[in-house]
Amino acid sequence: MTEHEWLSCLNPEIMLAYLIGQGLLVGRKRECWLAAKGDSVPEQRSCVLRDIFGNPWRPAVLSYRCRECGIPCGTPAAGYYCVKCGCDEAFCPWLRWNHGTIPALARTAYEEHAFEEVMPILADALEDAGCANLDILRHCRGDAPHVRGCWVLDLLLGKG
Ligand SMILES: [Zn+2]
Ligand SMILES: [Zn+2]
Repeated sequence: MTEHEWLSCLNPEIMLAYLIGQGLLVGRKRECWLAAKGDSVPEQRSCVLRDIFGNPWRPAVLSYRCRECGIPCGTPAAGYYCVKCGCDEAFCPWLRWNHGTIPALARTAYEEHAFEEVMPILADALEDAGCANLDILRHCRGDAPHVRGCWVLDLLLGKG
């Protein structure tokens, strides 16, 4: 399966075969799929799979900035330090913006199943916080259904 085929596939069985072949249908994501599958009509299941697994060819990441000097940096792993100022701490401006509005919105959507109401608001908040990731913004504003396990919500909530 190619990236293009994944993004337009209408057959959940083909998508599942791909996920299993890649070792991706495991752990929490698998449980979210099994829960959402029972609640969805067959025609929606390929969309549900894309909601949970996103684009496996282009996994989304949070953007980070150096705590001291503010330059953009990669995901801080063990042994990280800023190339400009040497600071060893980075933060994600999306998560801090407006006193944590974005994770709060994501939590509301997730816990109250309030996806349709919250996702467009979340997109506006992310944009105001400096998010320019079109995969994320389009996902929040698109009309495909969201379920628990939605890759954007999982990213913002730090759920693996
Ligand atoms: Zn720095
Ligand atoms: Zn979603």
